[in-house]
Amino acid sequence: MWQDRHDRYDPTMSIDEGHLDRLVWAAGEITRWFPGAARDLPWRRIRTPWRALVSEFMLQQTQVSRVAERFELFLESFPSPMAMVEAGEEAVLAKWSGLGYYRRARMLHAAAVCIVERHSGEVPQDADTLESLPGVGRYTAGAIASIACAQPSPIVDGNVDRVFARLTADASIPGEKGRDSRRWNEALIYVSSADRPDLVNEGLMELGALVCQPKSPQCLICPLSERCQSYQLGKVAEIPPPKPRPQKKLIEMHVGISWFGKKLLLARRPESGLFAKTMFPPDVGDFGSMEKLRSLGEVRHQTTHRDVRVHVHLFPEKCIVVDAEWKHPDDPGLALTSLASKIIRLARSDQAPESGAGASSTSSG
Ligand code: SF4
Repeated sequence: MWQDRHDRYDPTMSIDEGHLDRLVWAAGEITRWFPGAARDLPWRRIRTPWRALVSEFMLQQTQVSRVAERFELFLESFPSPMAMVEAGEEAVLAKWSGLGYYRRARMLHAAAVCIVERHSGEVPQDADTLESLPGVGRYTAGAIASIACAQPSPIVDGNVDRVFARLTADASIPGEKGRDSRRWNEALIYVSSADRPDLVNEGLMELGALVCQPKSPQCLICPLSERCQSYQLGKVAEIPPPKPRPQKKLIEMHVGISWFGKKLLLARRPESGLFAKTMFPPDVGDFGSMEKLRSLGEVRHQTTHRDVRVHVHLFPEKCIVVDAEWKHPDDPGLALTSLASKIIRLARSDQAPESGAGASSTSSG
């Protein structure tokens, strides 16, 4: 069989004939359904491997609408891997401002460097080579190879996992032993049976995003309802069962605000770790003296795994902090996280007499 020849097919995870037939049928249904249902998104208007790579990095953990607003502007600055390498990591971080999860921006730049140095500036087209790039996992490699290069490469993300779990009435708990291998096998069978790997993979993700949604699946308009086992058995609400959530790690920070006219003291975060390499108000401990310090309030920031609480303190006089610089916070060249921007807004509200001090705010992303 064809899957025996695919080196990433796991033969220990057998799939019964009924499921196999259902997956092949689903590929045909999605091929017919997707062209009429596809949203008009910027990265779909012109297809190139580089645009697909950039969009996949941006879409990790950021809403589609937010990426859609920023995508073309970002590509104007970095139209090719070579342009990104020449602009440098600092410029990439600055243009990434507000998108969150800055590690992705650093990885994207590192991937561009690798493409220029090892692949003559051309994004590789096969999934295995793509997966050797920094920041590119099996899903991202499969998405680029199939959607931008029409290769029969499987993809499994949250949307695909949910659709396949419901289609085959797989009630196993996410993270359970063997579940991932089984899902990748199914995704391989599915995409390999299609004439258009690009349509079936992107269509499957679209179905997961628009129709087979986690909490409100639209089974009545779903092209797969006729043979969807969960729907036929009345088990859609139970499948997939919720993933056990790890407790978020609480991180507390104390930062100092020092103004010099309209400029603010900002320091670059360390090379690795939280908000690495972005500009941020310095830690209170880095200020020489803590006299006359006044609390401005607290800013909270939620990420998938962390609950960050930043206590913001004002130093009423111009201070000196080693390795920190006076920067105008509105400088578009600054790599500011959304959390740093919120801290600065809080500091500014303290300067404006009508807004008052001691505010607090919460952000996420
Ligand atoms: S029929 Fe319902 S549960 Fe099944 S794939 Fe479609 S939307 Fe999802």
